[in-house]
Amino acid sequence: MKIEDKKVVAFHYTLTSDEGVTLDSSRERGEPMMYLHGANNIIPGLEKAMAGRAAGESFQVTVPPEEAYGVRKEANVQRLTLKKLGVKPNQLKPGMVLNLQTTQGPAQVTVLKVGRFSVDVDANHPLSGHNLNFDVEVVEVRDATDDETGHGHAHGPGGHQHD
Ligand code: ZN
Repeated sequence: MKIEDKKVVAFHYTLTSDEGVTLDSSRERGEPMMYLHGANNIIPGLEKAMAGRAAGESFQVTVPPEEAYGVRKEANVQRLTLKKLGVKPNQLKPGMVLNLQTTQGPAQVTVLKVGRFSVDVDANHPLSGHNLNFDVEVVEVRDATDDETGHGHAHGPGGHQHD
């Protein structure tokens, strides 16, 4: 069975940066990742590379930022006043991730620099601007259930868990 729209796919992957640093690995977590093909569950470049593959196949693909988490935008680096955030300088450290409410909804930002009265934050996705190098092994391909196609995601271990 080949990967196409309305198939649920379980796969193992290791994601490395161009510098050879492992960023994420399903193998380390144990469970393969599961997704519904054709439903934008995974980044576009990886989904494209999955099409037509079958269980047991292994492959490598390099996904450019445009087909992954986007290019970095300098406009997403912003200076916020600590007063407005309601925090003190000693509560923040570079590298910390904050969840903020913005005019465009909730956003995750990374703290770059902390001053006495302000903090510089980066709202770019941490993986924006990076090539993503995937080492993929397709574990299972099956037909999606009506529930899964209706919901737009895979159910079960490694997929979406409902309460
Ligand atoms: Zn569901």
